[in-house]
Amino acid sequence: MRQLGILGGMSWESTASYYRLLNQGVRERLGGLHSAPLLLHSVDFAEVAELQHRGDWLAAEALLAKAAQGLEQAGATALLLATNTMHKVAPAIEAAVDIPLLHIGDAVGQALQDQGVKRAALLGTRFTMQEDFYRQRLAERFDIEVMIPSAAQMTEIDRVIFAELCQGQFLPQAREFYLDCLRSLQAQGAEVAILGCTEIGLLLDGIDAPLPWLDSSALHVAMGLEWMLGGV
Ligand code: GLU
Repeated sequence: MRQLGILGGMSWESTASYYRLLNQGVRERLGGLHSAPLLLHSVDFAEVAELQHRGDWLAAEALLAKAAQGLEQAGATALLLATNTMHKVAPAIEAAVDIPLLHIGDAVGQALQDQGVKRAALLGTRFTMQEDFYRQRLAERFDIEVMIPSAAQMTEIDRVIFAELCQGQFLPQAREFYLDCLRSLQAQGAEVAILGCTEIGLLLDGIDAPLPWLDSSALHVAMGLEWMLGGV
């Protein structure tokens, strides 16, 4: 197996789930005592969130590029950046190392394309929903029309991510609100929803979906497994 480096802690709630899912995937494939050869650099998310909210993306990219170099030097053969939002600085991370960054947007885009989806609703942080770095990749590489919630809905979706989900609170009111957002996007023509924040799947786990959804973290984990087990 090839060793994978995870840039995580954004938040650790979802990184913990990456760790479990990667190990479960290896066990399912290889059985017995096999487990995932991983290196984890887990940041203090308060620092990263502060940089995001100040708009200091240069400092954020420097922090993650340095962490990526550390993982490369320690023997990682590829990187998983375990957050959608911080893919805003993916180009800087890619430029800082010689190993590939397995891009979460490609994991999502490929799955949408494989299912023949044309119009997908996107839920995530306000950075992911409103800025170009994620939507443009889906549009340009995978020909997906991305639909986003109303401005008021996006404010609340984003608030819930930082004030609740990333702090380990998964509340029924938030679940209902997210489902309402999905229903309105479905009424506007969305065929599928992208859970484009790695904690949203934790909130909606086991819920009866108003429309089919694709969980970015599960697809990203599958991409990581493919890399690790590619040569097995
Ligand atoms: N984990 C989240 C994501 O997938 C949000 C936290 C962050 O801002 O990195 O976007």
